[in-house]
Amino acid sequence: MALLERKRLEGLRAERLEELKSLKAQGKKVVGYFCLYAPVEIIQAAGAVPVRLARADYQSELEGERFLRADACPFCKASLGKFAHDPLYQLIDAVVSVNTCDMMRRLPESITANFSLPVFSLYLPRTSEPFPNRLSAFQAGLVDLKEWLGSLTGQEWQNERLKEAINEMNQLRRKLQELDQSRAEKPPKIRGGELFDIVALATLLPPRRMLNLLNELLSMVWAAPGTVDKNRVRLLLTGSILSEEDRTLIEIVEEGADIVADTVCTGSRWFHEELKVEEEPFAGLARFYFNRTPCACRRPNNALFDYIREQVQERKVQGIVNKSLLYCDAYRFEGKWLRQEIGIPVLEVDGDYSQENLQQLRTRIEAFLEMLR
Ligand code: SF4
Repeated sequence: MALLERKRLEGLRAERLEELKSLKAQGKKVVGYFCLYAPVEIIQAAGAVPVRLARADYQSELEGERFLRADACPFCKASLGKFAHDPLYQLIDAVVSVNTCDMMRRLPESITANFSLPVFSLYLPRTSEPFPNRLSAFQAGLVDLKEWLGSLTGQEWQNERLKEAINEMNQLRRKLQELDQSRAEKPPKIRGGELFDIVALATLLPPRRMLNLLNELLSMVWAAPGTVDKNRVRLLLTGSILSEEDRTLIEIVEEGADIVADTVCTGSRWFHEELKVEEEPFAGLARFYFNRTPCACRRPNNALFDYIREQVQERKVQGIVNKSLLYCDAYRFEGKWLRQEIGIPVLEVDGDYSQENLQQLRTRIEAFLEMLR
């Protein structure tokens, strides 16, 4: 039985959508953000409502081709398509984006040009060693973001609110870590796909409400006996962003195996670290976000491989599924290193959000699992 039934999940999303509409009617600003480097705590403390923009499906991808060329990143195309028709995206007053890969650097221009929305493009140094000059440049960008959000919401900045937001987000991250830990059990207590759905919900609901829900789910998780066959293959999922509506790969994989770990930015990489509250909160925020387990597009990104290696060892992972989105060079290029560095079998899958070639995908996954059994 699912931990969070689909009907309840959809109900919570629909309820939140209505709530956002009424918050907007009261003058609140809804700020959409892309990427795990976007500092949610600052958006919250500025008095806006943060919502992660990570929805993408085939219809939006096709619609996005009106704004971006056909061979652009499917996620970026779909994001633009979403602004054209998704009710959640139509509530967005402003966007925070981070200059990660080349496509994500282009996305803000397209959003502003086609939807007339203000976008703050946060500068993240491309090279990831935390040298003081890079950290201070990033910290200066966070302070600029605070000012920009202040003029959007018209609210006076209060450091106390920021501390509160950091504290809430840390509690949320800890609860998600606990839930994630239950995937490490043999057999795992929850399915990989469920964890992705719960993380997506955590980027939409207010933190306090999400904490209550997580407490409820956690008590169910630990009380329930593992129901899955102990001998199923244990896999780690890595690769490009996995959108909220893109569950096809996970569903096919979980027909015959368990996803006991992931290193995806909409999965465990969104919550597996903790932000230390420092005397100067912006210094702490800069250190935390700059040093997050990196996306494949950053250089050097050894910490991503260290995280994958650690997950593989701790969770007794037998194989890796590496899903790159079509035209996503950042993740496709890492496939070769993944094989060399981690030393366990890797299945490379690429594609967009279309449902074509499902049978071919299923056959490849079945053959991979057969090899691992
Ligand atoms: S890293 Fe890949 S998936 Fe992510 S936005 Fe860039 S091209 Fe798209």
